[in-house]
Amino acid sequence: MSDNQLRLVWIYPDLLSTYGDQGNALVVERRARQRGLDVARLDVRSDQPIPTSGDIYLIGGGEDRPQRLAAERLRRDGHLQRAVQNGAIVFSVCAGYQILGHEFINDLGQREPGLGLLDVVSVRGEGERCVGDVLADIDPQLGLPPLTGFENHQGVTHLGPTARPFARTKIGRGNGTGDGTEGAYNGTVFGTYMHGPVLARNPLIADLLLKLALDVNALPPIDDRWYDALREERIAAAQQPA
Ligand code: GLN
Repeated sequence: MSDNQLRLVWIYPDLLSTYGDQGNALVVERRARQRGLDVARLDVRSDQPIPTSGDIYLIGGGEDRPQRLAAERLRRDGHLQRAVQNGAIVFSVCAGYQILGHEFINDLGQREPGLGLLDVVSVRGEGERCVGDVLADIDPQLGLPPLTGFENHQGVTHLGPTARPFARTKIGRGNGTGDGTEGAYNGTVFGTYMHGPVLARNPLIADLLLKLALDVNALPPIDDRWYDALREERIAAAQQPA
């Protein structure tokens, strides 16, 4: 971070912002401002270049065709990879998660290269689409409370040897491989299948991104009663028999 300003980049709101994922940008922005940070939020449409000077980049989910277009443009742009080399933090959801991997199956049924920022490969699940509320335990190394979110995807994501599972599911499908993993991360690049918006349901993940960006171990506490009530309600909903 330079000039005491946090640069938050929301990638391709015109292609990747289904299921209210834009809420993730609102949550990070608000929680940063509540800590007295000056935030410059940049929403980068798919016809604009990705800046390399961002601190935190967010990417949401999308339908299959916009997902292919987004992958093509991000590959051509090349700046997100450069930003990550410079230490940027990336948090991606669903289609965005798949795009950050080595490859995924596009809307034409073809193997589409991703950005290779996550050591994962996504294929098309042969079974039923994964839809529903999820409850999972986040990797203990990250020191976060249980993950609550909503999934809606056909893709199944396999982790390579260098990716760590972001979480282990207790309820729901997550990566869809049957091994109980949900999401993945490599260094400061995170991917999850969770919508919700996931950072509204899990504000301490937003704080983790802020801590990484600021290079601090702790942030001043803020009133999380509203978030806690939402978490409680959604965790109870996930535990209801289908
Ligand atoms: N098209 C992808 C899939 O179904 C991602 C969907 C999404 O972002 N919700 O796997």
